[in-house]
Amino acid sequence: MSGLTFFSKVPALKKWIPLFLVLLFFSLWFPWNNRDSGSVHSSTQLAMGTLVTISTWGTGDVDEGKKVARIFERIRQVEAIASRQDANSPVYRINHSPQTKHVAPPEALVTIIEKGLEIRQQSQGAFDPGLASLLDLWGFTHGVPEKGALPEQNDLSAWLEKRNQFPEYGIHLNKDPNGTVTLHLDGDVFALDLGAIAKGYALDQAMATMKQSGIQDGLIIGGGDMIIAGSKGGKPWRIGIQHPRDRDKVMAQVEVMGDMALATSGDYERFFMVNGERQHHILDSKTGKPSRSGLISVSIQAKEAMVADALSTAVFVLGMEKGKALIEQLDGVEGMLVQENGERWKSPQFKGQWLDEQKND
Ligand code: ADP
Ligand code: MG
Repeated sequence: MSGLTFFSKVPALKKWIPLFLVLLFFSLWFPWNNRDSGSVHSSTQLAMGTLVTISTWGTGDVDEGKKVARIFERIRQVEAIASRQDANSPVYRINHSPQTKHVAPPEALVTIIEKGLEIRQQSQGAFDPGLASLLDLWGFTHGVPEKGALPEQNDLSAWLEKRNQFPEYGIHLNKDPNGTVTLHLDGDVFALDLGAIAKGYALDQAMATMKQSGIQDGLIIGGGDMIIAGSKGGKPWRIGIQHPRDRDKVMAQVEVMGDMALATSGDYERFFMVNGERQHHILDSKTGKPSRSGLISVSIQAKEAMVADALSTAVFVLGMEKGKALIEQLDGVEGMLVQENGERWKSPQFKGQWLDEQKND
């Protein structure tokens, strides 16, 4: 089956076709461009509900194809654990029998949930790995809701009421002294949705796999998340951050050498409009509605993609002031924040520049 046939059969993915073609073009173009001194080799596949591109720098390794296939395979392994749509995934099983004591969940899931609960704590609930039932009310289960209608106010109020019955928070991950790990969820209101953290974890694992295979210089992009290692033949990797209100415009440019992760959360990728209001996929559990903190784009730089991914969502919900405070409080975390009213901020060590300021620096 050709890539395009597959895409045209999946309506939610139609919007990716132009990007897919651009990436195909790039993968053809890069090797010619740098034939003498090594080149970038890129490969794109659909995984985790988005396009994932693995780019490596090198002079050409006969085993490169096999190595890249192994990296994609690792991403799919994480997806198979963390997906809440796949009826065979541990997350699906947990969500469908929440109050059961789930003994020894897969290690990857424990790592993701543990980090998710930590970031939930740090962000005072702005990031919340237990919002699956609320996301379902809004229709953000797969892609963008087809009907694009608001949920019933009664359903939202009922959700909030149920949720408020658990002031101590209802996702419990316990590690016994003997090493046994158990997980259970309270009531029928808590259900796992790891959409803002699992992709980051998958990219961390993908990069570890890349390095184990002997590739030291590479870049892996999945949707708004990416992880970077080494350099592009001694030169920095260069990445553009999209303008949140102009699809064709790059707002900022990041140049990096060495290990780093970067994630961007925005209200412009998955949304529908009702009465002129943007109904997007990052929800605020305090209101039960799409976050209206004033921020429209948040990029976070961190060592791990899992942390960058979750924090970009957390800061998006926290808003400018609280978001800044969280970034400043955490070691090794930097950020670039944009508000709807045009106000913007970046932390001093963020490795990116606003494009309209570049000439002055
Ligand atoms: P994207 O997945 O588009 O890169 P994010 O990393 O910001 O963007 O993740 C958004 C996804 O996270 C949503 O599609 C949903 O699955 C989940 N989500 C939505 N709101 C929250 C929240 N407040 N805390 C944690 N996860 C959330
Ligand atoms: Mg995120």
